Amino acid sequence: IQNHMRLEFLSKSQNEAFARVVVASFASQLDPTIEELADVKTAVSEAVTNAIIHGYEDKIGNVIIECSIQENEIEIMIIDHGRGIDDVEEARQPLFTSKPDLERSGMGFTVMETFMDEVEVQSLKGVGTKIRMVK
Ligand code: ATP
Ligand code: MG
Repeated sequence: IQNHMRLEFLSKSQNEAFARVVVASFASQLDPTIEELADVKTAVSEAVTNAIIHGYEDKIGNVIIECSIQENEIEIMIIDHGRGIDDVEEARQPLFTSKPDLERSGMGFTVMETFMDEVEVQSLKGVGTKIRMVK
């Protein structure tokens, strides 16, 4: 590993912008294009928002971000110890949302897949969710 960082913060909505900026700042040592940086920010924003509104839907908990840089690649993990995802395959489908009433469009995972090269989802009911993304 050439470089690594770990960030932990409370699942409050005002921390979403904070997390996105920190990851973009860390990623900037790879000399990304403006577009690549925007892609990373968008993907992080979706994953962190999910941790806040779905993972910790009715409580506040810790969200952890770990980033590693190797060669010309960044690996980003977004981890919550919230409620977990019922069915990961279903959750990843475009337009699937468990909260249609809250103006959710169900496009978060699709956005992550569009803007990142790899997206892996590990989740256990009642234990939490880990999203691993590479670009
Ligand atoms: P949008 O992202 O477009 O606002 P959304 O969040 O519902 O809508 P996705 O981000 O694609 O859509 O997520 C799909 C579904 O997966 C969510 O509705 C939720 O049920 C589940 N989910 C996603 N992330 C988590 C998480 N960290 N913890 C628990 N459930 C999650
Ligand atoms: Mg979402």
